[in-house]
Amino acid sequence: MGKSSKERCIKCRLIIQDCICRDIPTFWAEHKITLLTSKKEERIISNTGRLLRCMLGNISTVYMGEKGWQKAVESEITRTDYTPVIFFPIPPVCDGHSIMENTGKPLNIFVLDTSWKNARRWLHKPVLMNLKKVGIKTVPPSEYILRKQSAENYLCTFQAVTLLMAELRPKGFDSVSFQIHEKFKLWVKSLARERGLTRTTARF
Ligand SMILES: [Zn+2]
Repeated sequence: MGKSSKERCIKCRLIIQDCICRDIPTFWAEHKITLLTSKKEERIISNTGRLLRCMLGNISTVYMGEKGWQKAVESEITRTDYTPVIFFPIPPVCDGHSIMENTGKPLNIFVLDTSWKNARRWLHKPVLMNLKKVGIKTVPPSEYILRKQSAENYLCTFQAVTLLMAELRPKGFDSVSFQIHEKFKLWVKSLARERGLTRTTARF
């Protein structure tokens, strides 16, 4: 029986005995996440956008290129209860706090959950082009050792979004962020072990 035929959890995609989904708190932040991804990306076991969906409550997904995706994006952008922004770590970026102060509304953060190359392409889609960009101020070393990193400070979607959340300080996030992070490290470790990956520089 090959590795691929092992039964996996449909949520975290780890083999059943390693599943991290039990006891994961679902955190409802005042900021919404709109995850832009693709069916192809979702099939990748090491995709971390899926983990965000297990752990965050205020999140919705749009599959880029699928029927109606533009309409779905537009209706997210035109929501009156949030200020739409796009998370992209290349300067110049706006400060999330000042945007919130100016509009008095929480953010609807569009997250490009795909490869670096695709993310740059998606960023230039007409429907997304006018969104204000937000970034993170301090980028720690990546803890994600499962995919080749295209740049020294490349962070996976999960790490990037949770760091942004920490900087935006949604109410109550402090108390769950440690727990969420521990689950993430466990998840990376399990997948790495499954794949026989060891890296002396792995930062756990
Ligand atoms: Zn699971």
